[in-house]
Amino acid sequence: MAPPAQCLDTATGATGQNGTVPVIGHTPEKKMQCHNLLDADEFRLQGHQAILCTLVAARDRKLAEIGENRICDLVVYCSDQTHFAFRKAARIAGIQRDHCRAIHTCHGDMFALSPTELQAAMQADVDAGLVPLFLCATIGTTQTTAVDPIGELCAVTAPHGVWVHVDAAYAGSALVCPEFTYVIHGVEAVDSFSMNAHKWLLANNDCCVMWVKKPSALVAALGTEQEYILKDAASEGHDVVDYKDWNMTLTRRFRALKMWLVLRCYGIQGLRDHIRSHVRMAMAFEEMVRADERFEVVTDRTFALVCFRLRPQDKFGGEKTANDLNRGLLEEVNAVTSGPYMSAANVGGMFMLRCAVGSTLTEEHHVGDAWKVVQDRASAILRKMEIIYSSR
Ligand SMILES: *Cc1c(COP(=O)(O)O)cnc(C)c1O
Repeated sequence: MAPPAQCLDTATGATGQNGTVPVIGHTPEKKMQCHNLLDADEFRLQGHQAILCTLVAARDRKLAEIGENRICDLVVYCSDQTHFAFRKAARIAGIQRDHCRAIHTCHGDMFALSPTELQAAMQADVDAGLVPLFLCATIGTTQTTAVDPIGELCAVTAPHGVWVHVDAAYAGSALVCPEFTYVIHGVEAVDSFSMNAHKWLLANNDCCVMWVKKPSALVAALGTEQEYILKDAASEGHDVVDYKDWNMTLTRRFRALKMWLVLRCYGIQGLRDHIRSHVRMAMAFEEMVRADERFEVVTDRTFALVCFRLRPQDKFGGEKTANDLNRGLLEEVNAVTSGPYMSAANVGGMFMLRCAVGSTLTEEHHVGDAWKVVQDRASAILRKMEIIYSSR
């Protein structure tokens, strides 16, 4: 077993005076300090409940300010790359269907949310008498791992009193490595932040971790008055956090135990090694793609995902046939029984293959082998194209 993480060695069981140290719930050894991401408290729940609960907290806070009857005026914001979990949460929270602004992103911005576009959208809503409520920004979007510029976005939302949530479901795990913390530049200004330890931090499904700046907003929205059954002396004295008041569920699974075991088994160094090895393998794959001029890397690789495609070739119909060509390639790659399994992204009208390194057992030679399969299938497809186009 690897030596315990440094962050565990310093665990004191204390959470700091005003919750300055995020804690991972209650564990067999009192509480643990964790990576100091946000000046905020933390708890965990399943999947995208994090988004829903914070949205409800933000909604109630705003309605307390502007009046309950104005729920129909609330508007929420995201990008066209935001996970559909957000749209779903907005519906459940009672936001009008046409008040969810999915702001268009473009290739030039690497599909990140543009602060200028956000500013324009918010201003238009304010001018129309509507009330901006919530922004869901993403670090590591699902399709291409785009990184929204949190600091700049917060500068746009601040004058409107908008709650900013950061969804770092996948890429949040990379933040155990200091070299990745630049991706959350400006995060001090956000209201809440969530990541899924079950995606890339070796915890099994489900284990979503959330930091929230003002838990009181959650308690105001989700806390119960009639807590006589569950109250005990400790919670009266506020020594115990009553997570049932932060969340939708009352009785909950002991998810912190999984996280605790992962931290104990791997330690901070082990977790960093794990993330870095995946990033290194993705970089190796990226280099191989770049070295073959038939291919292009479509979006910048930031974490362990490489989005690539066969370049459109004029002699085969150019951009018009590029998507079909790449769709065909993906099908062929996945049909190779002993080969890799890859998925696709369709962003900005471009179909691309996704090589995601994220499995615990993946080793360098697998990545090399995967690339050989892609090259081999590409050669076959391009040969077919030559024949089809030469007979025209
Ligand atoms: C996977 C993912 C989600 C959804 O997470 P669940 O655990 O399935 O709720 C949300 N956002 C992003 C960016 C994701 O990658």
